[in-house]
Amino acid sequence: MSRTEQAIASADAHSAHNYHPLPLVVATAEGAWMTDVEGRRYLDMLAGYSALNFGHGNRRLLDAARAQLERVTLTSRAFHHDRFADFCTQLAELCGMDMVLPMNTGAEAVETAVKTARKWGYQTKGLLDGTAKIVVAADNFHGRTTTVISFSTDQEARADFGPYTPGFEIVPYGDLEALREAITDNTVAVLLEPIQGEAGVLVPPAGYMAGVRELTRERNVLFIADEIQSGLGRTGKTFALEHEGVVPDMYVLGKALGGGVVPVSAVVSSADVLGVYKPGEHGSTFGGNPLACAVALEVIAMLRTGEFQERAADLGDHLHRELKLLAGGGAVREVRGRGLWAGVDIDPSFGTGREISEKLMDRGVLVKDTHGSTIRIAPPLVISKEDLDWGLDQLRAVLTK
Ligand SMILES: *Cc1c(COP(=O)(O)O)cnc(C)c1O
Repeated sequence: MSRTEQAIASADAHSAHNYHPLPLVVATAEGAWMTDVEGRRYLDMLAGYSALNFGHGNRRLLDAARAQLERVTLTSRAFHHDRFADFCTQLAELCGMDMVLPMNTGAEAVETAVKTARKWGYQTKGLLDGTAKIVVAADNFHGRTTTVISFSTDQEARADFGPYTPGFEIVPYGDLEALREAITDNTVAVLLEPIQGEAGVLVPPAGYMAGVRELTRERNVLFIADEIQSGLGRTGKTFALEHEGVVPDMYVLGKALGGGVVPVSAVVSSADVLGVYKPGEHGSTFGGNPLACAVALEVIAMLRTGEFQERAADLGDHLHRELKLLAGGGAVREVRGRGLWAGVDIDPSFGTGREISEKLMDRGVLVKDTHGSTIRIAPPLVISKEDLDWGLDQLRAVLTK
């Protein structure tokens, strides 16, 4: 057996089978490239679902992490530490908000947003205990906890995990009228992805998010934007909602916030909203730890330059231009997305998304399929134009009969 086969066989024997990874075993990575245990190189066109926006082994992020490793890594929130205030202040400033509540994973931040909106509803709208409702969209992806999958419409993510947490209304994504009808006096929040990543990089109709903003303001309902995957540079702006000129009441952030080094997530909002908490009401042992804060502070500093947003915008224009040309050839049915992020629906006669992903892997390009014959393209924002073009050449080759 090869080293690859050995590693995969032991993983199959000793890890739960809750994933179906492509059959390669990564050993090292740098920038947009990964190298497997056999020494083969692959162009990473997935970037950890945006967790690796700044690439693998980013020098600035590694230096920040290394320096912090030597000082202090974990205190718990039982004590203050000297990176915490800067992290909260600078993240709030990046978001144009007042306050931050740090967590670790995306799902925890979504849970935090749900708890915050409910508490805000009870305290400011005077709702009867247990009656708060949150409106979400069909085909959403907000994480894997029991509450979060309770409002998923994906049977794979939900089945056999009940009983489900009540208090959610599901409406079609992009349908403002359906949302208007779903909002009642008990609604405390609307929770949406600005672009639905897992669903296949679905971009809502122009004006939808602005309509959601107007409607939620009118009805005194919080607009929660899950920018965990769409935010922090991916679409060519710091936040995907900026394309619509929209500012939500609450950002939910994760993935790229940890720079591909550590898990860092956060809810960012106004003092009115995050001000609902008193000591003991919510928390996390690891949330806002010194190592997380040090890495995230460097991420924030990098985003403040605008350099990565600009790269994502320029390379994204190029990516979408090239994908449109491919679509003209018939193998591609539809291309969606924004910035350096695309969902590509392949004509099923060329294979399932999984088969296309495997063929691309054989040519040294890594992508991820979703829902049948869709592949997602989201390389690190640090990818060179030459590498991106080479990756697109491989896609073109796979889609030529
Ligand atoms: C990845 C993701 C999450 C969940 O984040 P985890 O860190 O995997 O828990 C939530 N929302 C969106 C939009 C995501 O892309």
